[in-house]
Amino acid sequence: MVANFVSADYGYLCSPDGSESSQVLFRASKNKEGYFMNEDILMDTQKAMDILNKFYPNEEHVLVFNNATTHLKRADNALSARKMPKGTSKPEKNWGVEVTATAADGSALYDPGGKLVKTKVRMGDGLLASGEAQSLYFPQDHKDARLFKGMAVILCERGFIEESKLHVECKGFKCLPGATTCCCHCILFNQPDFVAVKSPLEITCKLQGVKVLFLPKFHCELNFIEQCWGYAKRIYREFPASFKEADLEKNVITPLDSVPLESMRRYAWRSWRFMMFYGWGLDRKLAAWTSKKYQGHHVITEALMETIDREAPK
Ligand SMILES: [Zn+2]
Repeated sequence: MVANFVSADYGYLCSPDGSESSQVLFRASKNKEGYFMNEDILMDTQKAMDILNKFYPNEEHVLVFNNATTHLKRADNALSARKMPKGTSKPEKNWGVEVTATAADGSALYDPGGKLVKTKVRMGDGLLASGEAQSLYFPQDHKDARLFKGMAVILCERGFIEESKLHVECKGFKCLPGATTCCCHCILFNQPDFVAVKSPLEITCKLQGVKVLFLPKFHCELNFIEQCWGYAKRIYREFPASFKEADLEKNVITPLDSVPLESMRRYAWRSWRFMMFYGWGLDRKLAAWTSKKYQGHHVITEALMETIDREAPK
């Protein structure tokens, strides 16, 4: 498998002399389930940012990722109101977030029957309007030491005294559209610190001054990454099948290297225009134009794409 970063300006991300590259090749092994894990993505992104900072420090960098679960995954203990109980936990059953237990080297632990071992961790702190951290658990010197406070207490500490008496959640977690104070879950869900939870990927990039965008989920015809990938795949399929590792590696790299920069630019342009349509840019004229063109189109046809290429306001 291969992971890399690609830009419409430079093609695949590497140092100007090509000696340092953000490309990562790896073999799908059983204990990695064959997929890039969140930690791998963080490491690869760091590698890319190191190249950007070292060789292109005078440019503004925006990393665009596919809308994949591994990219968007929040930390296990990130703030989330979804499963919180309203009342304070009982000593025999303290509330926490269930996570997969890991060994010292970070690998998942399995029980003798082959099932993943689960363990409970505390949810991270909230952030009060005052800028002060709010632990969701009572302190050591409290009569309910270390127990989960429960939503009612958490809301009271945030000044929602009356609201803390509301029901836990609206039926099926389906609050009325636009409602923000209908139930305990909804109030917390709309609190700035609960809204602002970012994925470790976004946090890592932001700390280093690199902006992050996620592509919309659908319409791979307009997804820059999918388009480059698709181009390479068409070439890959022309190679004879092989089980030899050296062949496999060559068969993966050659097609990827053969995507012309010109095509990358065309894909990127479409993608960028499309992202504007989703309101990621401030191009209102384009947004208005596109939504009119798209009305009633659930599938973007080739003809419609040509129209975008040809007519979209520049
Ligand atoms: Zn509600």
